[in-house]
Amino acid sequence: MLIVMSPGASRAEIDAVLGRVRDLGFAPHEIPGAQRVAIGITGNDGPVDADRFADLRGVADVVRVSKPYKLVGREAKPDDTIVSVGGVAMGGGHTAIMAGPCAVESRDQLLAVARAVKAAGGHILRGGAFKPRTSPYAFQGLKEEGLRLLDEARRETGLPVITEVKDVETLPLVEKWSDILQIGARNMQNFSLLEAVGGTRKPVMLKRGLSATIAEMLMAAEYIMSRGNHQIILCERGIRTFETATRNTLDLGGVVVLRAMSHLPVVVDPSHGVGLWYAVGPLARAAVALGADGVMMEVHPDPAHALSDGPQSLRIDRFTSLMGELRRIADVVGRAWG
Ligand code: PEP
Ligand code: MN
Repeated sequence: MLIVMSPGASRAEIDAVLGRVRDLGFAPHEIPGAQRVAIGITGNDGPVDADRFADLRGVADVVRVSKPYKLVGREAKPDDTIVSVGGVAMGGGHTAIMAGPCAVESRDQLLAVARAVKAAGGHILRGGAFKPRTSPYAFQGLKEEGLRLLDEARRETGLPVITEVKDVETLPLVEKWSDILQIGARNMQNFSLLEAVGGTRKPVMLKRGLSATIAEMLMAAEYIMSRGNHQIILCERGIRTFETATRNTLDLGGVVVLRAMSHLPVVVDPSHGVGLWYAVGPLARAAVALGADGVMMEVHPDPAHALSDGPQSLRIDRFTSLMGELRRIADVVGRAWG
C-alpha cells in the first residue's frame, strides 16, 4: 500500500501518517518526491483499509501497489530519483561518467588514471581495492592500502570515488573511505550485505547479478531501500547467456525497461558487459544515446600488464577521445553532463 500525500502536506501531517502506520503494526517508508511525498507500507499481509487514514490531514490518496518492489518502482515515485555525490548528479536528466582501473594496483597506476579521468571531464573515479575474483589465486586487490590510494587520488583530483564492498566485515572500512559503495554482480543477492549497506547513508551502486532478471535486481534494490537508504544506483553490467564471443551479453534493452520500471538512476558498464576493449566505446556511446544516467568504464595505463581485466580496459588515449564523443552525444540527446 502507498499513501500519497498532497503536494503541500506539512511535516507534522506526514509525521502523523507515519505514526498511524506504526500504530497499525506496519512499517512506514517515507519516499520524498519532486511533487509530493509518498509513504510506502510494508509488513502488511493483505490490503490496508484506506479508512484508517481518512481522518488524517494532507492525505491525497491511498493506493495498492501492484508490484512486489514497493519502494523502488515508479508506482511509489513517478519522478526520477537523482543521486548526487560531490556535486555530481545521476538521474533526472543527468549522465555521469565513472572511470578508472578495474583494480587499484599502485600509486603511480591509480594517479595516472585519476588525472586522465579528471582531465577528460569524467566525474567519478572507480577502482577496486577488495576484488572478488573468480579464482582464489588471482590478484585479490590491495585492500586497505588500495582504499588509502583512492583517498589520495580523490584529494588530488577532487573526483568522488566508488569502490566495491565485498562483505559485511569490511563494510565499515570501505564506508569510511568511499563516496559510493559498489555491490558487485556476485553479491547482488547477498542479502546480509544488502541490508548492511541499506543501514548506511552512503549512495550504493548495485550491479546486476550474473544471471539475474530485472525483477530480481529490483528486489535486491528493495532490500537496500527498505532499510532506509534511498540513494541507490542500478548498474547493468551484462548477463550470462549462451553467447561466448563476448564475456557477457550487455542488456541495453533491459536498461530502457528498467528505467521505465524504476525511478532509480541506471548506469551501464560496457567493460564487464562485453569484455573486449574495442567494443567498450561503441556500447558506451549507445548507452549515453539511449539515456543512461551514467556509464562506468575500466581504464588502465598499460592494459597488457593489468593485474585484472586488461582485455576490457581502455588505454588512456582511447578513453580520452571517447569522452569527447560521449559528451557530444549527451548534448544531442539533451542530457546534462554529470
Ligand atoms: C567491478 O566493477 O570491479 C566488478 C568486479 O564488476 P562485476 O561485479 O560487475 O563483475
Ligand atoms: Mn573489472
